[in-house]
Amino acid sequence: MNAMRLVVVGAAGRMGRTLVALIKETDGVVLHAAVERSGALALGLDAGILAGAGHLGLSVGEDLDAALAGADGIIDFTAPATSVALAARAAEAGLVHVIGTTGCSAEDDAAIARAAGQGARIVKSGNMSLGVNLLAGLVELAARALPAAGFDIEIAEMHHRHKVDAPSGTALLLGHAAAAGRGVDLGDVEVLSRQGHTGARPPGAIGFAALRGGSVIGEHSVIFAADGERLELVHRAEDRSIFARGALRAALWARERPAGLYTMQDVLGLSA
Ligand code: NAP
Repeated sequence: MNAMRLVVVGAAGRMGRTLVALIKETDGVVLHAAVERSGALALGLDAGILAGAGHLGLSVGEDLDAALAGADGIIDFTAPATSVALAARAAEAGLVHVIGTTGCSAEDDAAIARAAGQGARIVKSGNMSLGVNLLAGLVELAARALPAAGFDIEIAEMHHRHKVDAPSGTALLLGHAAAAGRGVDLGDVEVLSRQGHTGARPPGAIGFAALRGGSVIGEHSVIFAADGERLELVHRAEDRSIFARGALRAALWARERPAGLYTMQDVLGLSA
């Protein structure tokens, strides 16, 4: 089979540059186009030089129609409105669309699901790393095993100072895993932030805390706190390439699948 032709949207972003560099050294995929918004400073620059991966002979462009012509898939770590618009384009053209963007609203997620029902092959995950997706399985197991009456679940995360959404997509993914283990909907038990006189902790709540600072790529702790003991499950991302590697694996996996909406749990064979 020919190498999969991928379009990286948001090619000048932190993840975009990591993806461009990784595509260059990964068998089975090739960079078809690198896209940024009109007016972006990176337009016209060589995508490889921008990524610190050497000259590629392919410059960053703003014309999405031209970029998608002849492409097999889109890799998208951008912003919610962009991901929703790209999902519709992926549906029209029957493309693979890997969405790493976090901070999507329920309406955004519904629009993305509609696009998957209309011909797009979408893999969407708040975290594309193998470690975090395995952690989600362990969290679900622990939440099922430890009684809600005795063990309080808290999820703490820290990210770099540029991150714009909170709690992180990964924290929410872990929250959903914990809720699934307990057989409840996260929306019914989540406490997304605390301030002032909050009163005592509601029984069965799943709490979140978000720290921001420095260059931290991503740290997540899921804490099961009981009287007299505490279990902590922790993941530390040390390099953005773990997310990029997962995204490329997702693209190659989805190439062989029918249209639909998939998760990294599906890609990694971790779904029940
Ligand atoms: P970033 O450095 O801000 O990069 C995003 C890039 O996308 C920016 O260059 C941005 O341009 C560009 N962009 C946005 N809308 C666009 C459009 N319509 N057309 C073309 N380019 C567009 O952010 P990042 O750190 O790479 O993170 C991006 C997203 O991925 C965030 O939601 C983050 O939380 C998420 N993320 C997910 C994972 C995962 O594993 N799922 C891992 C890491 C990060 P402007 O600056 O002009 O807006």
